Amino acid sequence: MTAKHQLASCSSERGYLTLIGLLAAIVIIGILFALYAGGLTGGGSPEQGGPAATTPGGAKRSAQGVLCRNNLSQLRTAISIHTGSAGSFPTSLEELNAGVSLRCPVGDEPYQYDSTTGQVHCVHPGHEGY
Ligand SMILES: [Zn+2]
Repeated sequence: MTAKHQLASCSSERGYLTLIGLLAAIVIIGILFALYAGGLTGGGSPEQGGPAATTPGGAKRSAQGVLCRNNLSQLRTAISIHTGSAGSFPTSLEELNAGVSLRCPVGDEPYQYDSTTGQVHCVHPGHEGY
């Protein structure tokens, strides 16, 4: 009984210090967590699904989105060069032999190409504007 009482009175004096220390630790952890979560999800939209959604946060998905955009950009350049030299749109993306992946790096969907308009786009959700 006395031992317990002594412990209680002893800790009551230091209680404020430990409480302040604990609050400071919570605040620091909170800031770190906010920075960590914000850094990972920055740029990615939460509605994007696909197999890449299993990666922690959206950083990898965001990088793959940049890769998809870059693929489409290169394909459009290749289509433009082909159209300029051949006088017509290529009949298929394979014909271009652009050395670029013809699939979305995020969802692995094949790129949609319209040989009548020369337009290429990605069908992966969120990549419509790429
Ligand atoms: Zn894509």
